[in-house]
Amino acid sequence: MTDFTYAVDADGVATITWDVAAKSMNVMSMTGFAELDGHIDAALADPAVKGVIVTSGKKDFAGGMDLNVIAQMREGGAQAIFDGVMQMHGVLRKIERAGMDAKTLKGGKPIVAALPGTALGIGLELPLACHRIIAADNPKAKIGLPEIMVGIFPGGGGTTRVSRKLGAMAAAPFLLEGKLSDPKSAQKAGLIDEVVAPDELLARAKEWVLSAKDADLVKPWDAKGWKMPGGAPYHPAGFMTFVGASAMVNGKTQGVYPAAKALLSAVYEGALVPFDTALKIEARWFTHVLLNPSSNAMIRSLFINKEALEKGANRPAVPDQTVRKLGVLGAGMMGAGIAYVAALAGIEVVLIDAAQEAADRGRAHSESLLDKGMKRGKVTAEKKAEVLGRIAATTDYAALSGCDLIVEAVFEDPGVKAGVTQKAEAVIPADAVFATNTSTLPISDLARASARPGQFIGIHFFSPVDKMNLVEIIRGKETGDVAVAKALDFVRQIRKTPIVVNDARFFYANRCIIPYINEGIRMVAEGVEPALVENAAKLVGMPLGPLQLVDETSIDLGVKIAKATKAAMGADYPDEAVDAVLFAMADKGRLGRKSNAGFYAYDDKGGRLGLWEGLPQDYPTRSDQPELTEVQHRLLFAQVLEAVRALEAGVLTDIREGDVGAILGWGFAPWSGGPFSWLDILGAARAVEICDDLTARHGKRFEPPALLREMAAQGQSFYGRFAPDKARAA
Ligand code: NAD
Repeated sequence: MTDFTYAVDADGVATITWDVAAKSMNVMSMTGFAELDGHIDAALADPAVKGVIVTSGKKDFAGGMDLNVIAQMREGGAQAIFDGVMQMHGVLRKIERAGMDAKTLKGGKPIVAALPGTALGIGLELPLACHRIIAADNPKAKIGLPEIMVGIFPGGGGTTRVSRKLGAMAAAPFLLEGKLSDPKSAQKAGLIDEVVAPDELLARAKEWVLSAKDADLVKPWDAKGWKMPGGAPYHPAGFMTFVGASAMVNGKTQGVYPAAKALLSAVYEGALVPFDTALKIEARWFTHVLLNPSSNAMIRSLFINKEALEKGANRPAVPDQTVRKLGVLGAGMMGAGIAYVAALAGIEVVLIDAAQEAADRGRAHSESLLDKGMKRGKVTAEKKAEVLGRIAATTDYAALSGCDLIVEAVFEDPGVKAGVTQKAEAVIPADAVFATNTSTLPISDLARASARPGQFIGIHFFSPVDKMNLVEIIRGKETGDVAVAKALDFVRQIRKTPIVVNDARFFYANRCIIPYINEGIRMVAEGVEPALVENAAKLVGMPLGPLQLVDETSIDLGVKIAKATKAAMGADYPDEAVDAVLFAMADKGRLGRKSNAGFYAYDDKGGRLGLWEGLPQDYPTRSDQPELTEVQHRLLFAQVLEAVRALEAGVLTDIREGDVGAILGWGFAPWSGGPFSWLDILGAARAVEICDDLTARHGKRFEPPALLREMAAQGQSFYGRFAPDKARAA
């Protein structure tokens, strides 16, 4: 099987076409690289060849590196990774020098990259080594280097070339944030050279090859007297950039993402030396990052397993359940959001509320989101009309006739939910699936209102629906496979990531978030500096400290949940100390962001000012403050022990879902790959040791679950013991 084909036309232009068999998107493998190398050698050696076009046989150019190759490289250890990467640099550098004389820089053969569509990762690093990059004007195409998003950085020369091409400052969004652009924006930014009509792509590439002069082939960094745009590190302007970049990276990543730091080091150190040495430095830092367990865990959760779940890794084997007509009951914050994402995905939606004005308001939510999209040039007037045209807002349940899926998002009240369930079921087809978006009520209890509990399921969205990509699907006791498949197919249609869990209090995500918030509040009650609590959370990679999080989700919701939990648990209820703080805040009317007052103070416009100064008066801070690590362990173990308990109890059935769900659902320290990946990095034995210590000093909520103790005793890891084969291999 070949990944690249090679042909020379009558005018002496060779075309190397990337077209990996049996894949819809090209990805680079080591054998692919060897093939490419062979074709480049052939073109450079053949006197009849005047120049080369590198293009794709598919609608896109390439999606990047085959991440399994990276996993394999890692197994060989540092030397194998470094050697593999240097080999890759050798091929790309050969393309860049294209046979030219090392001294005169003359006599090379022009090599142009012609990109029909998306070009990501190595799919852009290869073009960057060519002498010119021409892209088809395809607004859907994405061009960029997204490596940083999965915990690595561009290691195929992209870091060195883009920072030298654009300067460190202008390169930052592409390298440090993984920014992707359409071809026109990529050209404007200087990332690529030219954008042409799609049907002129190859003709224009050929024209360029045949007219290119020697000087057109010399990269700026290979030319005499080259200086880094924006200044190298010891140039006054460059100095400012690098000092600023270091502060910015540490500010944004809180120092927990090894890839961001390594990337910056590669750019900084590379800028001080000649190009070929810079590539070697890039390769060393890349090796360093690949050997860090964080990069392994991030790739596994954020790329491989996320994609596996999206493709239906846990979908029951029943026929296609694509949703055609969706009924949404309740047009409030959640219902309106669900209607929007469904209509956007091409699904016909009936949006129902008790009053017509409420239903209309729900539909207007879509209109305002579409208007925002139009302002940003992402949505056309036709698209807006089309999407809005799919949402019928009404109070009339008869409109639900023909719906194959219902998602209920009315008030969090079992009585109200039971009422709308029965009203809807009276109208919808006998084989329709009924889903509830409840966040706290057991699915199996709500299913009692249904005449068809086998077709009753939980589909739990996160707020705001249009932004949050996780959807938690909850199987009730009687939920059947078709309902699960229906929910999964729906989530796939709206392009979100599903996890499937079993029914238990707070399902999975909220079960883990609540103890996190509670632990933060508990520390405030104990007299720990609130700023220490918040910063400890952020310094370990949580996007929001627990106090900010409860302000965002609202303190009265916390009170409501606490009361319901206490009623359900009775004497076993462990959170009295937390409630004392929470209830006192609520009594003061400090309900969080929505009341412009909570654990934080806010200005009149709702801008967060800082921690509320009254807190230390009510909860005097102790003179002996705990160590940072201790606070971090309390905050993290509060969450991960709950995840382990969820696995132990069979609420979670797949640790991949536990990890992916934690990162997408509540932003659990993404650098760690999720709770189970973090425990694997730490090792079960060390985790048990820390928990025993925390238990002795802070109470039995930190007691390691039996499963964790057993794994510690047997030297097991979660991915070693529980992962399906594919996830383990990663
Ligand atoms: P909301 O109060 O904004 O919206 C509820 C809507 O339901 C209102 O528009 C109300 O008029 C309508 N409604 C009430 N009774 C009705 C009836 N009998 N018939 C038709 N419509 C009726 O609430 P929300 O925040 O959108 O939450 C809805 C559901 O989603 C709740 O079960 C909640 O627990 C759950 N949920 C909320 C969040 C969140 O962050 N807000 C997240 C996940 C799940």
